[in-house]
Amino acid sequence: MDHNFDVIIVGGRPAGASLAARLGRAGLRVLVLDKSSFPSRPAVSAPFVLPHTLALLDELDLDEAQYAADTPKLERLVLEFGSYFRAHFRFDEPVGGRQHFYAVDRARFDACLWDSLGRYPSVTALARTRVLGLLRDEGGRVCGVRASLPDHDDALEFRAGCVIGADGRHSLVAREVQAPVIEERSDLSTTLYYAHWEGVADYGDGIRDTPAQIHSSCDGFSFVLMPSADAQYMVIAQGRGDSYNALKGSPDAVYDGLLRARPQVWRRLAGARQVGELRGLKKFDNLFRQARGPGWALVGDAYHQKDSLDAQGIYDALLSAKLLADALIGSFAGERELDAALASYANAAHAALAPMFAATMDRVQREIYEAPPPFVARTLLRWVLTHERYARRFMSLVTRRREPAGFLTPPLLLGLAASGAAGRVASVFRAGGDPTDPLPGG
Ligand SMILES: Cc1cc2nc3c(=O)[nH]c(=O)nc-3n(C[C@H](O)[C@H](O)[C@H](O)COP(=O)(O)OP(=O)(O)OC[C@H]3O[C@@H](n4cnc5c(N)ncnc54)[C@H](O)[C@@H]3O)c2cc1C
Repeated sequence: MDHNFDVIIVGGRPAGASLAARLGRAGLRVLVLDKSSFPSRPAVSAPFVLPHTLALLDELDLDEAQYAADTPKLERLVLEFGSYFRAHFRFDEPVGGRQHFYAVDRARFDACLWDSLGRYPSVTALARTRVLGLLRDEGGRVCGVRASLPDHDDALEFRAGCVIGADGRHSLVAREVQAPVIEERSDLSTTLYYAHWEGVADYGDGIRDTPAQIHSSCDGFSFVLMPSADAQYMVIAQGRGDSYNALKGSPDAVYDGLLRARPQVWRRLAGARQVGELRGLKKFDNLFRQARGPGWALVGDAYHQKDSLDAQGIYDALLSAKLLADALIGSFAGERELDAALASYANAAHAALAPMFAATMDRVQREIYEAPPPFVARTLLRWVLTHERYARRFMSLVTRRREPAGFLTPPLLLGLAASGAAGRVASVFRAGGDPTDPLPGG
């Protein structure tokens, strides 16, 4: 086995595998190591993949029919605000040629990425291989890894010009290089648990397609029912860290109690059954770490983590990997010295990810942390959030076609509220009434 490479990547899921594929396509000699075997699910993740993410997967020539096998195409997101109102979100215009999204099975999805590495002769991908530590040269520069391979009693050493931490939220690489956290919003940390369910009732109430349902109960908690692979649903209960963690009982009992206490959620689960164990995160971190140093760089969750509310994690992992691949390919082609290339990656990644991070934090504050006064929920919030112009803007925001800055300026807010209020008055006189209420089970 070769022990010398251009680049070593620790972690082989969205960030690591996509980076390896891009570098492999450019002919770089790459070693990817992952302690998991594939297919397997990552420790935690209950993912929506929106069309902008699917478009990045197209760049890697991945087959949608494979990574989303037996997974329903979703075309509508229903956002319920307590029992006040609900808003419908669809993709009016195609993004990356699509108007649908998925709640994928991560085991299947990640295995497609991992298996695609077989196409690149210069990429060596080792599963069930745990990286134990980093190697440094006499000057302290990172120059390789120590790893434990299956069927080898002793740890082996591998060397490269650059070592990449694509090893997720508990990154060993970040720990070993002591990458500082350079930006953090621990004040908006949430707690989240989810499980797979079978036999979940249809949404009903005249909605014939299979929507993804998000129910913000306007009391510090939010629930997501995601139609996923093999006729299962992922059901998420998320809440403010302080409110969730104050609830007494085991995580299973707390999860069960939260679902039963929300009529709009429980009406679909009463005849269903949970399959598989409860998984979750006690504290969702919202942070950026320093992205690079001498001989190393971080990418994906190892670099940047944020609340899953806007479903941007996999996109950000794929995008940061693309930016890092561009920097590394340029450097190995002799265009730039490696450290300068990594510095330009760090700047580009922060510029690309920070605005959406700020927008997601605003949303966590608005929809989970703050309970809107009932009067505001019944009027201003309803008028704005159920407005079709708001829905269009929101969908272009979460698919990164619109810059978060200026997403909802005060004049725009007032305009939407005024036009929404007028529309609601008009709807009272129309046959069939206002489609945004009443909520089923409310
Ligand atoms: C509850 C929840 C819901 C989410 N929902 C969404 C969503 O709706 N949409 C979305 O896009 N994103 C979502 N995310 C985020 C998404 O899961 C992550 O952003 C994404 O998985 C990051 O990919 P990654 O490749 O950086 O890291 P990971 O997927 O965490 O992969 C890291 C890999 O590194 C390997 N590794 C770690 N340490 C070592 C070691 N020492 N040696 C070898 N290998 C190692 C691990 O085995 C793992 O395979 C959610 C996350 C959570 C927790």
